[in-house]
Amino acid sequence: MRDKAEYIWKNCLNFIKDNISEHAFTTWFKPIVPIALEKSMLTIQVPSKFFYEWLEEHYIRLLKVVLQKELGHEARLVYNILMEKKAEQDSHPHTMNIPSIGKEKMRPQEVQAPLSLKPREIKNPFIIPGLRKIHIDAQLNPHYTFTHFIEGESNRLARSAGLAIARRPGGTAFNPLFIYGNVGLGKTHLSNAIGLEVKEKHPYKTVLYLSAERFTQQFIEAIKNNTRNDFIHFYQMIDVLIVDDIHFLASKKATQEAFFHIFNHLHQSGKQLIMTSDKPPIDMQDMEQRLISRFKWGLSAELHTPDYETRIEILKSKIYKDGLSVEEAIVEYIAKYIHTNVRELEGALISLVAQASLNKKEITQKLAEQTLINFISNTRKEISIDQIKKIICDYFKISAEQIQSKTRKRDIVQARQLAMYFAKEYTGASLSNIGEKIGQRDHATVLHACKTIKNLSETDKMFRYYISDLRKKITTP
Ligand code: ADP
Ligand code: MG
Repeated sequence: MRDKAEYIWKNCLNFIKDNISEHAFTTWFKPIVPIALEKSMLTIQVPSKFFYEWLEEHYIRLLKVVLQKELGHEARLVYNILMEKKAEQDSHPHTMNIPSIGKEKMRPQEVQAPLSLKPREIKNPFIIPGLRKIHIDAQLNPHYTFTHFIEGESNRLARSAGLAIARRPGGTAFNPLFIYGNVGLGKTHLSNAIGLEVKEKHPYKTVLYLSAERFTQQFIEAIKNNTRNDFIHFYQMIDVLIVDDIHFLASKKATQEAFFHIFNHLHQSGKQLIMTSDKPPIDMQDMEQRLISRFKWGLSAELHTPDYETRIEILKSKIYKDGLSVEEAIVEYIAKYIHTNVRELEGALISLVAQASLNKKEITQKLAEQTLINFISNTRKEISIDQIKKIICDYFKISAEQIQSKTRKRDIVQARQLAMYFAKEYTGASLSNIGEKIGQRDHATVLHACKTIKNLSETDKMFRYYISDLRKKITTP
């Protein structure tokens, strides 16, 4: 009987193989084991309920055609679902697979899907809502688009890598894409934008966005319900997986392990991975080395604090999007004083608009000053080029004359470049203005300095430390 089942199933597979991609065939049909054939009823064993649902969802038509071809119009299909047996004791770590007795017959031929059947209920399968509907909800925030993600020097690399990925998910060298940066600099926005753009350009790709925190919760739940394999299996089907705030997995060994398996499977099958984090891979602590090394396989791109011009652009875009009207001078005022991150920038603008409408006042310079006091009271009011120069000279123990001089001594040059970099970031001054005040240079020199510092911050750990230390000194009163 089994031989017969095997024979029929082999014929079915030959036909199926020619009709779907090799990858789909390997994933969804190879693991199936033909169990029995009774009259025109074929019983097949599938690894999980999830698997069964996937077959029903995606391959029911194909199965119907092939089974009717082999077994005639009376063809029926019965699924036998493997279930994981609970590990009984801790000392017995391997879970065993035992076949369930679920031998329910499928309903006789019905209108739409004659091969469907009611599965035996399995306790607590790990099922993400929406999965049964072919469509997996990508969980993307529809507002976080590329259009609303303003481009600037601070995010250019990450943004353009994101666009390239959206064109060819899994098909670029940026796999994984690891986006990192401090809070409020746009990690969540940008990673969502990539997901949205993929959906737009490749509607048939399965995209999923979630935070590492949610991933962890789901994993814990899956362990509790003894559905770890289903959990991993589910994630291994995604075409573009976006995990936000991956640093959350620090010290969570079992979750890291699960993510490791998912990562490997997706990466090997040419699927795209995107992760965000508050620090670069090398600085991650309590994260398994093999994961860290994988994070570095593709591209790590940092989101920096936006410079003055980008801050203006972001504010203007927000003002336009929300249909507000705010005078140019006030936009400049906000951009000048709020330089921590984009979230604060938006927060300041929203407070100002709220203040104005609550009190039925115009948005004036005075109102802006009053409102922003809350935002800037814990930061230095206005940062001048001279202040920056002084902080840097003190930090590196060099004199004001040295930083102004023409010397090419390496440490002096770097101090000068740092001063230019921070001046560009924190003051509203133009490049030529900065150059004039720091060492009598031209605007091209300043631009070059900013690029050099940015590069060094990405490649040199010590330098990154200097920058963050100096940034603290510059922005705290
Ligand atoms: P993170 O995840 O890095 O903490 P978010 O992605 O949540 O930061 O961004 C904080 C806020 O700033 C969001 O409202 C986001 O839309 C906005 N934002 C960040 N970067 C940009 C940008 N380049 N252009 C426009 N808005 C931005
Ligand atoms: Mg975020």
